[in-house]
Amino acid sequence: MTTEALIIRENNNIGEADRFVTALTRDIGIIRASVRGARNLKNRNSTATQLLSYSRLTLHRGRDKYIVETAQPISVFFELRSDIVKLSLAQYFCELAGVLAPQEEPAEDFLRLMLNSLHFLAENQRDPHLIKAVLELRMLGLAGFMPDLMACSMCGAFESDSMWFSMREGSLICRECSPQQPVRGGCRITPNVLAAMRHINFSEFEKCFSFTMSDDGIRMLSKQTEAFMQTQLGRSFKTLDFYHSIQKE
Ligand SMILES: [Zn+2]
Repeated sequence: MTTEALIIRENNNIGEADRFVTALTRDIGIIRASVRGARNLKNRNSTATQLLSYSRLTLHRGRDKYIVETAQPISVFFELRSDIVKLSLAQYFCELAGVLAPQEEPAEDFLRLMLNSLHFLAENQRDPHLIKAVLELRMLGLAGFMPDLMACSMCGAFESDSMWFSMREGSLICRECSPQQPVRGGCRITPNVLAAMRHINFSEFEKCFSFTMSDDGIRMLSKQTEAFMQTQLGRSFKTLDFYHSIQKE
């Protein structure tokens, strides 16, 4: 079969000529595959199967993994490799996709979200914190973890000076219904951050990266989407920790 894929992980074992990759494919989601001879830089499949390469792969199914027969690069995000902060953020996106995207099922929406995020990141077209927030929240939604951000879960109010957002339940409670922090937990969420999260969740895909906020607002948004991701998945990611450790705040 032939499918388009983004290489989200690359394992090169010392002394072996083959490259082992994890790829997010359009037609069959996440796959593990080996690429014959790709460690040899002269091999025509080499560039197209490096981390962050978006390529057209011809595959066949081996006994326990796929074999890449040919790989043609469509776009290679080279710009990301020269900037350690951007590269680490891109690797976190890849790690998150590896956990959230399906296997043996089409994953076109996941792939499109990844490609758009990497493109904006490479081209400096959006604040990296904004890209991160959109990718986290939108990808969680695709994977079935979409929070209920329509209205207060008790009275149905759409607006409030500030709402409580329960990371665990993914729901809102307004300040009128619960002046104090609700028993079932929740953190304060400002109207701006809530508006941005609603935009990310409910807008058409083409528009989900298109909104503006103050720098402080974007950072707060990114903290909230990250905390929501960690609460829902019950874990963090090494690549995310690394990204935070090298960021210039
Ligand atoms: Zn309410």
